[in-house]
Parts: sequence; C-alpha cells; structure tokens
Amino acid sequence: MMNSKVSALINEQINEELYSAYLYLDMSNYFEQRGLSGFANWYKIQAQEERDHAMLFYQYLQNNGEKVELLAIAKPDKVFAKDMDVLQAALEHEEYVTSLINNIYAQAYEVKDFRTMQFLDWFIKEQGEEEANAHELITKMELFGNDPKSLYMLNQELSTRTYSAPSLTL
Ligand code: MG
Repeated sequence: MMNSKVSALINEQINEELYSAYLYLDMSNYFEQRGLSGFANWYKIQAQEERDHAMLFYQYLQNNGEKVELLAIAKPDKVFAKDMDVLQAALEHEEYVTSLINNIYAQAYEVKDFRTMQFLDWFIKEQGEEEANAHELITKMELFGNDPKSLYMLNQELSTRTYSAPSLTL
C-alpha cells in the first residue's frame, strides 16, 4: 500500500500536468494568432510532453494498485499582452511544477517510499531541463526579439522542434 499522502499528491500531479498541457496549448494558440508558427510549434510539442507526464503519473498509480481520481482541468487564465509575457509565464510555470515535484519527493522521503523516490528521479532531472529550456528561450528573445529578421530566424529555429516520447517508460 502506498502512503495516502504520497498517492494523493501524485493524483493531484496528474491534474497539474494536464493543466500544464492546456496552458502550453494556449501559448501555442497565442503564437499561431501572431503568425509565429515556429513558436506555436514549440509550445504545441511542449503540450504533448505534458500529456506524457500526466500519463506517467497515472500509470504509476495504477501500477501500484492505487485508484486514480480524475479532477477538473482549469481554464488557462493567463493574459499575454506581448511575446515575452508568454516566455516569462512558461518559466514561472516550470518553476512552480518543480516545486510540486520536490514536494512529492519530500513526502516520499518522509515515509521512506524509496520506489516513488526512484520514480521521481526522472522528473527531478526533467524539471532541470524544462527550466533551462525556458531560460534559454528568454535569453534568445532578449537578444534577438526586437529585430524582425532575427525574430524570423528564431521562429524558423523553433519550427524544427520535433516530438519525442519520454525516455521514462513504466
Ligand atoms: Mg511536466
């Protein structure tokens, strides 16, 4: 039997990851409207990754005989007045998700749930990469975003991102 606090947090995390997918889809939508389809591609693939994360937490609970309770997914409520608002919101959101993962890890550590700690190791690393990617995009935008030609090239670069399934399988 899994510790009830640990399983409850993981159950909530399914919802948080699905909300993340929703949020990134809204960001993709923003950039599609702007005519920056490369940025839109970047965030659409990000949304796909978040759905994968949700499924990993979902599968992990089921593999451990825990009942999953699917919760309502909130409407993305962030308002983006300019491109940089989106990039900043993405970084802030990833920092928030990192805090959630850390919180689950802390709870698993407290009850000596070593299996969950090992499962979460992948997500700890993944969050480091997510934050680094979000930071890098902000830096590029700061450097090149004000020049139309450079923005065009950055948009082209982001259009080349392709989806790949998570390296963690359960
Ligand atoms: Mg995620």
